[in-house]
Amino acid sequence: MTDTIFTKIIRREIPANIVYEDDLCLAFTDINPQAPTHILVIPKQSIPKLEEAKDDDQNLLGHLLMAAKKVAKEVGLTNGYRVVINNGEDGGQTVYHLHLHILGGRYLGWPPG
Ligand code: AMP
Repeated sequence: MTDTIFTKIIRREIPANIVYEDDLCLAFTDINPQAPTHILVIPKQSIPKLEEAKDDDQNLLGHLLMAAKKVAKEVGLTNGYRVVINNGEDGGQTVYHLHLHILGGRYLGWPPG
């Protein structure tokens, strides 16, 4: 398992504002929020990027989406929100531990930059 800043958050080696946790994933607020609500959902198992997910990871990927839905409801995003996965360089990925961004609390334009 390659260590990233997110691995350290999972191991509680660095602080994070954790808003949700279960046996498979963790959700915490983004340190550099791009919307009034910006939360990251990450698997505890390290998959560097979506592109590297295996067939065996199908249930885990579904679990992450369901967790995102649950977290969005818990934090009160009743007027909609966006879930984003940045994959690789052109996708703007900077941390190579798969994560879902939950963005909300304002109208989000489309397409993104
Ligand atoms: P991405 O660019 O899709 O790889 O997203 C990585 C996200 O992680 C960015 O939105 C960063 O602001 C966020 N981030 C980086 N370090 C931390 C941290 N220590 N705690 C919370 N969020 C972080």
